Amino acid sequence: MAVFVLDKRKKPLMPCSEKRARLLLERGRARVHRMVPFTIRLVDRLQKDSALQSLRLKLDPGSKGTGMALVREKESVEPTTGEIVRTCTVLMLLELQHRGSAIRDALTQRRSFRRRRRGNVRYRPARFDNRTKPKGWLPPSLQHRVDTVLAWVDRLMRWAPVTALSQELVRFDTQALQNPEISGAEYQQGTLAGYEVREYLLEKWNRTCAYCGAQNVPLTIDHIHPKSKGGSDRVSNLTLACTPCNQKKSNRDVAEFLAGDPKLLAKIKVQSKAPLRDAAAVNSTSWALFGKLKETGLPVEVGTGGRTKWNRHRLSVPKAHCLDAACVGRVDGLQDWQQPVLQIKATGRGSYQRTRLTRHGFPRGYLTRKKRHFGFRTGDMVKAIVTKGNKMGSYLGRIAVRASGNFNMQADSGLVQGIHHRFCKLLQRADGYGYSLTKIALTQGDAGIGRSLTAALSLPGMNAGVSRAIG
Ligand SMILES: [Zn+2]
Repeated sequence: MAVFVLDKRKKPLMPCSEKRARLLLERGRARVHRMVPFTIRLVDRLQKDSALQSLRLKLDPGSKGTGMALVREKESVEPTTGEIVRTCTVLMLLELQHRGSAIRDALTQRRSFRRRRRGNVRYRPARFDNRTKPKGWLPPSLQHRVDTVLAWVDRLMRWAPVTALSQELVRFDTQALQNPEISGAEYQQGTLAGYEVREYLLEKWNRTCAYCGAQNVPLTIDHIHPKSKGGSDRVSNLTLACTPCNQKKSNRDVAEFLAGDPKLLAKIKVQSKAPLRDAAAVNSTSWALFGKLKETGLPVEVGTGGRTKWNRHRLSVPKAHCLDAACVGRVDGLQDWQQPVLQIKATGRGSYQRTRLTRHGFPRGYLTRKKRHFGFRTGDMVKAIVTKGNKMGSYLGRIAVRASGNFNMQADSGLVQGIHHRFCKLLQRADGYGYSLTKIALTQGDAGIGRSLTAALSLPGMNAGVSRAIG
């Protein structure tokens, strides 16, 4: 995993390796600027005196989380074919976990409490119908996705010389599939067009087997009128079937296969003829994000879900959100993707409500008016070396403060309760995110490329800089 490097004026330089960062710190040429993601600041260098390469930040927005990959790009000309080959070297993999559902739950609760408190006022004129939403309004749970992704794009642009962005914008390319039911792309196994058609079909048939309605099973593409009997590869002749159904149907025509179920036959015939509207491919959050990314002034490359999948299969990269991000857009080669992933969990900065409530809305307890206790606040990243008592040992993680001075800590090993503030040393102030390192879940032969945050942060030489950076 790369280490971010800043110059003495805090302008970004090229990220370096962990080993190089360690040497720079040991020789006193750098200070620790930030613990997670690890960032150092050179004391004797200016950005204008150093050579910068161009980095690309790639994004794969999703509903639960957004995958991000910071890559260094190299374009070379293939000597035999004369084609331009774009190779990406992965510098850092990140996964941002959204908290849309937490926001939605909090707002639902607030709404119902207010309704109970204010709703029993009679003789008041109706006022529920006099508000309009501004253009481009998104619900808070979705707006938060756009805002947090943008906040991280902004941060990474501050820490690394990012010169271009890539985003997966749509599931399939509506341009390539222009009127797919009539003309447009035909299905060919393994080609980019094939992957676009596959995504289109998944959307059109709701990710279910057309014959038995099975969901969450591997689906195959089935020719409604079989190919062996002259059926075409056009999208209107394709459907999705689970493997058992596909084998049962074999090369029979759909009318013959579904002779016993005329209702289902009619439904499939109607659905196969109905083209999918453009709207199915896009989603409002992705477009809102795209609009904001363009405002950064950097060139934004957009890719489709079909292309991402095609790249992933072609480059034989396992399925992971951050690796999907690395496969967005034009990629012909991917290097150094076997590295730990920095998980960034959006945690928020606490609640403004000082009363904790039960499920029924009755007070359960009260929070203190001040959020800071003994110089710490909830969300701070802390290193605790407990020297006595039955919790002896060294811990590192995110704390939740208590007015009593005995804090709770979310460490790599799990929740540790009752760590006294006397043993705690601040590593990084709360910034609304929780951090952890995970490894990419490989399908076969787990190579064990991950490691714990504790191990990453206790590299020799790094601790020396910590007190200086924070003190
Ligand atoms: Zn089936």
